[in-house]
Amino acid sequence: MTLAIGVDVGGTKVAAGVVDEHGQIIAKLKRSTPAASPRLTEQAIADVVTELLDGRQIAAIGLGAAGFVDSARATMLFAPNLAWRDEPLKQRVEERLGRTVVVENDANASAWAEARFGAARGYRDVMLVAVGTGIGAAIIIGGELYRGRWGIAGEPGHVRVVPDGRLCGCGNRGCWEQYSSGNALVAEAREFARRTPKGAMRLLQLGGGVPEGISGPEITQAATEGDPAALRCFQTVGGWLGQGLADLAAVLDPACFVIGGGVSEAGELLIDPARAAFERALTGRGHRPFAEIRVAQLGEDAGIVGAADLARATVPSPLASGRSVFPARLRALMTRRLPSSRSLLSPDGGAPVASREP
Ligand SMILES: [Zn+2]
Repeated sequence: MTLAIGVDVGGTKVAAGVVDEHGQIIAKLKRSTPAASPRLTEQAIADVVTELLDGRQIAAIGLGAAGFVDSARATMLFAPNLAWRDEPLKQRVEERLGRTVVVENDANASAWAEARFGAARGYRDVMLVAVGTGIGAAIIIGGELYRGRWGIAGEPGHVRVVPDGRLCGCGNRGCWEQYSSGNALVAEAREFARRTPKGAMRLLQLGGGVPEGISGPEITQAATEGDPAALRCFQTVGGWLGQGLADLAAVLDPACFVIGGGVSEAGELLIDPARAAFERALTGRGHRPFAEIRVAQLGEDAGIVGAADLARATVPSPLASGRSVFPARLRALMTRRLPSSRSLLSPDGGAPVASREP
């Protein structure tokens, strides 16, 4: 059993786990993130890893972090919620640990985990769309993560869907995440409560009597109770989500969309209107299959599991080492057939790691 450590570095917490080959977490730790200081954040990462390493045989260590990771999977180019700017994160953490680590974007790690062990298990063309405060995303094509030339692929939250629309934090107007995200859901509900207080009685009651008191959990609770105003908010935001997925399908034609992020915890309240809008908007509908739209299964553990599994893929496995008990021909067949991380490209973008024969 090859064990790997995965670390999920977010704006508020560092969570780490020891993950086995089946994607099971067998030990887990959590610390708050000293987000303002890159040095202290790196030390927090090294501390949780050191604690998990104690007495265990660990093959690989992977970090998944919220931000733009360069294509060499070493440098954090920009992290909106952390103080990292062109930070050589791989090198800094390796210096503290004395061991090799692999750095990955957190959405990539989550998508990988869902495709290997979660909602998209068995699919090779997968897109993860994480609907949280904004929209995060990751793309898997033919069983491999698609990172783009500079490592920044998969940011559809900033595709403009409404010309001259709502102002976005990125500086542009009308970005998709301004219409389909946790923020959009809350904005929708508050606006409705301001305009039509009578129709939003339940929402206002849960929000302490003022529109500003209404946030995500209140909207989900009211919608679960069947409140028409809250259901309408999910219809609107889910509708924008499905419309955007149809646009993404026009570009990528995935077999499965996995919807993650905090808002996905509302489950079918979000997915039903998204699916309906997707099926109304898909190009060539009626003449092509509809992609699956599924809620993520691994929750907040996805980042840990994916970072660990991606890191494990970078170390030679017994299957590829030549010490295997299988004859080379059979081994080659198995390597091709398994939807395995062995098919990942090496970090320098060269030949697939698994294609080396002894
Ligand atoms: Zn934007």
